Amino acid sequence: MATATRKKTTRKKTTRKKTTTRRAKTDKKVYYFGPSKTDGDGSMKQLLGGKGANLAEMTDIGLPVPPGFTVTTETCADYYKVGGKLPAGLMDEVRENMKRMERDTGKKFGSDSDPLLVSVRSGAAASMPGMMDTVLNLGLTDKSLDGLQSATGKTRFALDAYRRLINMFGDVVMGVDHHAFEDEFDRIKKKHNAATDNDLGVEGMEELVDAYKKVYKKHTGEQFPQDPYVQLEKSLEAVFKSWNTPRAIRYRQINEITGLQGTAVNIQTMVFGNMGDDSGTGVAFTRDPSTGKNEFYGEFLINAQGEDVVAGIRTPKPVKEMPRWDRRSYDQLIKIKTKLEKHYKDVQDLEFTIERKKLYILQTRNGKRTGPAAVKIACDMVKERLIDQKTAVLRVPPNDLNQLLLPSLDPKAKRDVIAEGLPASPGAAVGKLAFTAAEAADRTQDGEKVLLVRRETSPEDIDGMHAAQGILTSTGGMTSHAAVVARGWGKPCVAGAGAIHIDEKKRKITVNGRTFTAKDTLTLDGGTGQVLAGEIATIEPKLSGDFATLMKWADRMRTLKVRTNADTPEDSQRARDFGAEGIGLCRTEHMFFEGSRIKAMREMIVAETEAARRKALDKLLPYQREDFIGIFTAMKGLPVTVRLLDPPLHEFLPHDAKAQQDLAKTLGIKPAKLKQRVAELHEMNPMLGHRGCRLAVTYPEILEMQVRAIVEAAMACQKKKVQAKPEIMIPLVGTAEELDLLRGLAEQTIASVKKEHKHKGRLDISIGTMIEIPRAALTADDIAEHADFFSFGTNDLTQLTFGYSRDDVGTFLGDYLAKELLPKDPFQSLDATGVGQLVAMGCEKGRKTKKDLKLGICGEHGGDPSSVEFCHKVGLDYVSCSPFRVPIARLAAAQAAVRNSK
Ligand code: PEP
Ligand code: MG
Repeated sequence: MATATRKKTTRKKTTRKKTTTRRAKTDKKVYYFGPSKTDGDGSMKQLLGGKGANLAEMTDIGLPVPPGFTVTTETCADYYKVGGKLPAGLMDEVRENMKRMERDTGKKFGSDSDPLLVSVRSGAAASMPGMMDTVLNLGLTDKSLDGLQSATGKTRFALDAYRRLINMFGDVVMGVDHHAFEDEFDRIKKKHNAATDNDLGVEGMEELVDAYKKVYKKHTGEQFPQDPYVQLEKSLEAVFKSWNTPRAIRYRQINEITGLQGTAVNIQTMVFGNMGDDSGTGVAFTRDPSTGKNEFYGEFLINAQGEDVVAGIRTPKPVKEMPRWDRRSYDQLIKIKTKLEKHYKDVQDLEFTIERKKLYILQTRNGKRTGPAAVKIACDMVKERLIDQKTAVLRVPPNDLNQLLLPSLDPKAKRDVIAEGLPASPGAAVGKLAFTAAEAADRTQDGEKVLLVRRETSPEDIDGMHAAQGILTSTGGMTSHAAVVARGWGKPCVAGAGAIHIDEKKRKITVNGRTFTAKDTLTLDGGTGQVLAGEIATIEPKLSGDFATLMKWADRMRTLKVRTNADTPEDSQRARDFGAEGIGLCRTEHMFFEGSRIKAMREMIVAETEAARRKALDKLLPYQREDFIGIFTAMKGLPVTVRLLDPPLHEFLPHDAKAQQDLAKTLGIKPAKLKQRVAELHEMNPMLGHRGCRLAVTYPEILEMQVRAIVEAAMACQKKKVQAKPEIMIPLVGTAEELDLLRGLAEQTIASVKKEHKHKGRLDISIGTMIEIPRAALTADDIAEHADFFSFGTNDLTQLTFGYSRDDVGTFLGDYLAKELLPKDPFQSLDATGVGQLVAMGCEKGRKTKKDLKLGICGEHGGDPSSVEFCHKVGLDYVSCSPFRVPIARLAAAQAAVRNSK
């Protein structure tokens, strides 16, 4: 086949040209790949799905791919457009391509001498492992069963293939409960004294095929179809339908896969890894997807079908052991590894099958990898000159850096190892045991931290897998469902810990004589595969090596600065360690909650006169000043944006009667008086009420105290030779007049404090505002007259633009996402279409008034990669985010710069 394929490569260009012209005219639905021609190529992922595009591409570069064809994703979209019917003409095109496959393989679909059998598999543009349907061995009927027996000389194998088809077709296409088949299998195995599936002989297999046909008839009311084209048509439709099953929809939601039109369907010549001990099947990565090490990495099973590896039913052997079994195929695979990486310039995850010592490649795709592996592979590939630095920076999904920033298990901590499995996905996870996916999801929702413990996982489990802290399985290998999905999410996973016996019904595990129940805590070390009793201490990550190299490249490429949201010296220091270039939001209200500060704060709130308020504020001043000194010192000359008091005052008062009584006593006032003050502060919509700059309008003395604290702290730092660069930020401004008034007051305060302290030197304190009310964005040109900088408060801006209360959105957001009324949670990822317009307008109008107005963002979106890209595009100077997201924002900013450079 390889020769035929290579010969064809020279004709490739003309074939493809013809195809493109024809496609425009005839609405081509099917793309062929095989030795006689290849219609598609690797760039056509949107139309052919990732799998289809890569099958075409692999055929093209001369790899041993069994011939087949791909039905396009557009056809799937058409299927839904016409209310769930296969589009007209589709089956004619399918038949035409089946004929070509028959010519290319020399076999015939449904034949009674050497039948062509096919697999029917889904394959969308984004990988969704195991989420959609697959049917194998299609084309087997009573007639072609004879053909398969005589062509292979293997009666048991042929019967096994037939029973697998009836089972899969029944389950996947016709919705027969798979337990109905399994019960029959168990009954017949028992009857024939067969301990495992493989122990069942020819006679038993014959009985099994009959029994399966009966199950099929009983549950569907029809005979198992004896026309292979009926099998094909129904399977094709089943794959289209599987695009919209709840689990597939949920998977797309969790992984934020949007904008796809449907799944493609790949129909491909079957090759068999279960034809005896000279056959096998495996899954491999061109590099280790857990650590990134440049080592061919994978697993195989002798005499098995591919599904057996992924489903985790049998624990496979590492590919390193393959040469002892079939050196030729192994050597061929190693050559293919290099060829694939050179061609795709990325790590590949491939599926292979060896049928009677002949190697076939069934699939390749970019390998999912953990965050640490992504960083290492990107750096190594630059060293190997496979990719350049820009590509390396683009290769690492910014959110995956999280995995490098999280603590890992302290190597010095005492470990009580109860079992060892495979290190399927690194990281440390601690939790109590949950035995089903539903339990894991429910208990997590109730605030518990759980580990999902299963024999193996399946696509139905994804909700619980996603909710759990980590995943532990007792069977399955490094490429089992649990391992692949967990790695994709960067969730710790230990797979195939065979010593653990799981009793799902009694909700306990036993391992080497010890028992652990749902109430017990275990720790998983996904980096070593150890399962440990209790909770083990963790250590902070080291930010050196490849991580530092990649971040250095990223910093050179980005134009956006990255600041942090921090309001303690510790957070400020951590953010600096993570590379923050300043503080973009220091929320001062957080400083009023601790110890005796809250008492003074409450005294201020209940005060009835300005004099009493000022007295209480005088008590707060030293605290506030010390806080600022600490933060300015930690930031060593980097800018610090201090936001003046923002929340409604009722947030600082207790609301239950007992706490109010206690407080009244502490403050030395009558309980009734306090109750009355609390009632006065009550608002129907506090988020739209007396908060932000409105507080300073009513109580200018609060602003005066805060500004004084900032100025005095800056002067104190200067004395200690610490350069302080405070910026005063006035929140929730909606009119230019508000800012004009409050800026004036802040400037007066700065001047009088300087005078009072006879301060001579420079003290540059800029004054700006948050843009977080739509009106502020709409009138940004007027507001800019009074501002040295704008910082977009996109939390409030989103709340006020959508009219969704940011504190209550949880009540309905889930429904909106499930019904795809919103693509993403707009409080996490900036709504570029709506809220984004206000941000863009704010920037444009602000800079029209002041050309070099400094612009930033300090809402939660500042740490979200797609929002960071938006910020880059509208020309902000910086984003500000929580300390742990600083490296993520740095990388996202670099990616935005690379992607959007001319
Ligand atoms: C905002 O509204 O985006 C913001 C940063 O302020 P806060 O979250 O404190 O309201
Ligand atoms: Mg706000």
